Amino acid sequence: MAWSDLPGFQREWVYPLKSSGRYTRIRQTLGNGLIAFLAALPWIPIGGKPAVLMDLGTRRLYAFGETFTPRDSALLVVIFLIMAFSLFLVTALWGRIWCGYACPQTVFLESWIRPLEEWIEGSRGVRIRRDNRGWTLDKAWRKGLKWTLFALLSIGLSLTLTSYFVPALELWSGDGPAGAYGVMFALAGGVFFDLAYFREQFCNFLCPYARFQGALTDERSQVVEYEVQIGEPRREKPRAATEGACIDCKKCVAVCPQGVDIRDGYQLNCINCGSCADACEGVLAKLGQGSLITYTSPDTRADQKGPRPRTIVYSALLVVLSVTLVVLLAQRQPVDASVARAPGTLFTVDADGAVRNTFLLMVTNNGSASVTPTITVDGSYELIVPPISIPAGESRMVPVVVRTDDVESRTQDLRLYVDDLEIKTTFKTGAES
Ligand code: SF4
Ligand code: SF4
Repeated sequence: MAWSDLPGFQREWVYPLKSSGRYTRIRQTLGNGLIAFLAALPWIPIGGKPAVLMDLGTRRLYAFGETFTPRDSALLVVIFLIMAFSLFLVTALWGRIWCGYACPQTVFLESWIRPLEEWIEGSRGVRIRRDNRGWTLDKAWRKGLKWTLFALLSIGLSLTLTSYFVPALELWSGDGPAGAYGVMFALAGGVFFDLAYFREQFCNFLCPYARFQGALTDERSQVVEYEVQIGEPRREKPRAATEGACIDCKKCVAVCPQGVDIRDGYQLNCINCGSCADACEGVLAKLGQGSLITYTSPDTRADQKGPRPRTIVYSALLVVLSVTLVVLLAQRQPVDASVARAPGTLFTVDADGAVRNTFLLMVTNNGSASVTPTITVDGSYELIVPPISIPAGESRMVPVVVRTDDVESRTQDLRLYVDDLEIKTTFKTGAES
């Protein structure tokens, strides 16, 4: 089998016509806002750290002034579940609206890549004609310029994504680790391939969400549909009065970024972007008619209203998960600590007869400001510990010496406190059990 027989490589190239209308305006505004948000987050400092940074080396997530460690896994799982069920709920209500309005691939493709392509290569018709002709100097410089700009954009986008794992200033100034640049360039290669060539084939063949979204929608999900009853049979002439309302202008097909003819019925490849609805509205408004393509559902047409089991279940789960998140956040300590016995002997006996154990205490500051935690011990123990100050989001390891002459057993319970955080461990002695 030749590589050109693989899914995604054998295809009719889609040349979407530039769309305009209310859904296009909403998409563009939302898309530009999301790009600005995505690009800005790694650069906004909160408490001396980027607003969002996942430091894989230290296994820490810095998010909006808080520091999350592997001990916060439960919290992160709850946040992940909230995101997943929010997506399920949105899909149940409005189909693949995420794909059409907020998916990073769609947003970059529609907000930057297609406008740039049109600016360099011309409108849809010009591009189709030029691509159908052989290579000329004119075609070569336009393609060369376009791919060069796509490559630069892909590198910029990959640098931005990598800035979520390596501090942005370090990365963009060339001081990041070599491995980060390796990953970044590999990512840039993938992004370039996707934005310059693969495009809608990613949604049609690779995106996992697109594969299972059919199971999340039902008869009441609002998806883009064509009004067959009103539109068909299509008119031979725009002003013919005896046929359906569709004048077969094919503008809804021309604007579709997925190459879908929505008049053939709702299709899995449709990303619910509404461009076809905008196109039809624009065309038929000139004939004094409303759009034949709208966000609707079979139940909306049959006037079936009211809640349905799947949205009630998703909403209930979201309420439970949100309450759980609030409780977990409220219970979260501003400092986190763990203790380990210092390598070497379990205990020593000092000259005054007191038994000494030495520990290593690791203290992490989870907050957005420096802390100077107070370390104390419960019971008749003497504590020797240096004062510590921990900047926001950092950890410090300090040696902790615990002494006592109140020896009762070979292993005694020991409770250390870092501010209000209790850490249980054991104190070893040489006593006979
Ligand atoms: S059919 Fe309409 S809503 Fe679906 S992807 Fe194409 S233009 Fe967007
Ligand atoms: S844009 Fe409207 S009128 Fe034109 S072909 Fe599509 S459905 Fe028919």
